[in-house]
Amino acid sequence: MLNKLSLLVLAMVLSLNIMAQDAKDKITLVIHGGAGTILKKNMTPEKEKAYREKLTEALETGYKILEDGGTSLEAVVATINVMENSPLFNAGKGAVFANNGKNELDASIMDGKTLNAGAVAGVTVIKNPINAALEVMNNSEHVLLTREGAEEFAKKQNLEIVDPSYFYTERRKQSLEKAKANEENRGQIPYSDLLNNKHGTVGCVALDQFGNLAAGTSTGGMTNKKFARVGDSPIIGAGTYANNKTCAVSSTGHGEFFMRNLVAYDVSAMMEYKGMSLEDASNKVIMDKLTELGGTGGIICVDHEGNVSMPFNTAGMYRGYIKADGSKKVLIYKDEE
Ligand code: ASP
Repeated sequence: MLNKLSLLVLAMVLSLNIMAQDAKDKITLVIHGGAGTILKKNMTPEKEKAYREKLTEALETGYKILEDGGTSLEAVVATINVMENSPLFNAGKGAVFANNGKNELDASIMDGKTLNAGAVAGVTVIKNPINAALEVMNNSEHVLLTREGAEEFAKKQNLEIVDPSYFYTERRKQSLEKAKANEENRGQIPYSDLLNNKHGTVGCVALDQFGNLAAGTSTGGMTNKKFARVGDSPIIGAGTYANNKTCAVSSTGHGEFFMRNLVAYDVSAMMEYKGMSLEDASNKVIMDKLTELGGTGGIICVDHEGNVSMPFNTAGMYRGYIKADGSKKVLIYKDEE
């Protein structure tokens, strides 16, 4: 009797171990640093090197957290912090300027296990907006806080507050001036032109060894945006979505189109309701549906099995991943593999 019982316990321990190993074999981290008219001919070797190095640093930071047994949420926040703190990207320091000459930042995060989510929009003094999004998710009864209210909340959570001048970069200021001059000369400036100077929204999706998915996105939005415009990045279902049943997604591109198409949720819905693979669902949403509507941009996705997909319909998208099998990629242009 005792022998049978101990055999049973042993079998259970062994299968739990196998399951844990199986989950560990799937840990995955994927990032983007914005999509747009990113062409090799417009890139200097130094600039390209700087981007590749920063993307690698972001990937390695997040992946180490997953390897050490951290959660996908922890990995997403730490990875995005690396890119928010770099002036290379349109998020945190280096964010684009709104028409009023301010940097108005948006961010969101979602937990695929609980379907909890948090977001902030139009914030101007929070050093790392993704941390504020996490606090909204964990420590408020709301999902999305905006402007002064979000800032007041972030202060109460003891997040790092900076002077708005912290976000200033000469490059982005010049982009605003150029956009304003163009607008005066020929009316509304086409978004494709703006994408030339403004790409750099950042995002991260991850699968941890507990089998939990998470997604996060952080941005300065669009150069010359007006009237407290908010894009897709802080909108759950458009810029960010995660669900353990299906996948985690972070978007970048022309926000208005991503909002109208509910891009991030659409990938998950196609998987859930139509039984599509991550690859098929993500390609359908970007290459067919978004493109047909005239929207430009891309997404990064990971599913609960650790499959990765990164479709985009622009000339380039800063992107990369690390998987448990050791494969690691940092890519910029369209035809890079
Ligand atoms: N999606 C962002 C927005 O529209 C911008 C971007 O990803 O380039 O605010």
